Amino acid sequence: MLPPTQRKQQWLDAIAGQFAQAVSFGLAQAQTLGVASRARLHTAVYPEARRLGLPADYARMAVNETTSSVRSFLALRRSGRKASFPTVRRTNRIGLGVNAYAIVESGGRFVLRVSTGVRGQYLWLPLSVPARYTQAMGHVRGDARLIRRSDGWYAVFPVHSATAPTACGGHPTVIGVDLGIVRLATAATPNGVRVWPGKAVRAGREHFADLRRRYGRHHRVDRIRAMRGKESRWMADLNHKISAELVEIASHHPDPVIALERLDGIRYRLHGSRRFNRMVSSWTFRDLVDKIQYKAERAGVRVLFVDPRRTSRTCPKCGHATRANRPTQADFRCVACGYRGMADAVAALNIAAAAVDLLQQGPSDTARPDEGQTESPALRPMEPRRPASLDADSNLASPSQGTPAV
Ligand SMILES: [Zn+2]
Repeated sequence: MLPPTQRKQQWLDAIAGQFAQAVSFGLAQAQTLGVASRARLHTAVYPEARRLGLPADYARMAVNETTSSVRSFLALRRSGRKASFPTVRRTNRIGLGVNAYAIVESGGRFVLRVSTGVRGQYLWLPLSVPARYTQAMGHVRGDARLIRRSDGWYAVFPVHSATAPTACGGHPTVIGVDLGIVRLATAATPNGVRVWPGKAVRAGREHFADLRRRYGRHHRVDRIRAMRGKESRWMADLNHKISAELVEIASHHPDPVIALERLDGIRYRLHGSRRFNRMVSSWTFRDLVDKIQYKAERAGVRVLFVDPRRTSRTCPKCGHATRANRPTQADFRCVACGYRGMADAVAALNIAAAAVDLLQQGPSDTARPDEGQTESPALRPMEPRRPASLDADSNLASPSQGTPAV
């Protein structure tokens, strides 16, 4: 947002302080009482938040924030992962409930109207919204958040969109593709999610492994050698088919772009058992990616590679990024907003979003410094990360992030 006046700044600082105190109190209560239900946390936290001076809408957000922190923690612990009980370390954010704000547009400029808790009294905060996000401002829904960074205040809005990020009117159509083991490829297309199951691959590989063992027992080295060639041809055929179908799907859309994770990410995620990894080796993926690139080039489809970090644990709806969003390998369930989906499809959406980001910003090699798992500003519907440095005049800010104050 544009630099607020000193009076507004003071108000924001005060509310941020009270918000942190309320959440901190709530977390302590949750730990002491051992509760995680929203209702019980509400009973425990809400009156204290109000006592601290938070207006009702903000107190409710403090309860929400407490609840989602506790749930993230419990989900992590349930799945047997290391996690320490959450604490509040910074007083730099304010939960902005859906009823506590409105975005007002006039003459192409956006102003955030924030309720102060006093009926009829509002704080008007002018936003600086880059042109490419002005359209998204019409789709803002739900609880938002204000964040203070070293260079000023930012507003973070969830943008409601149920479909893959496609663009119309001369903008590229980005199709995010997640590669995996259970599902060899999952593509988020404007017409829905397309899945290429990995079952056939696993079955085929096991069949070949069986043969290999049998020939091994009978010392048929010649047969083993012949079979090795047969197996890789079979795998290559399969990859031919998948890549052809994928490029075919993409080519039906205007200015198509296929977005893939950089391969180091796939290897990174291939931490199944050794047997599992052997079944679908990284060779499979590399070959598949090569074929997609080759066929895409021939068909005039662009291919973009994105950073694989966070694509599997970021919520495509609200942007909340935490390992706890993945209760199982196959499922995605956002601990913050409750969004549920097939994990591979969610990853595909996030990959597409990251690619949209790349396309909009031009190549950026600076990742936003990690602000901890619980904070991934939901700038646009599916946006895993933000660029690190937001210069006041670089126009890199998003609808959710006004240009920083100077
Ligand atoms: Zn969510």
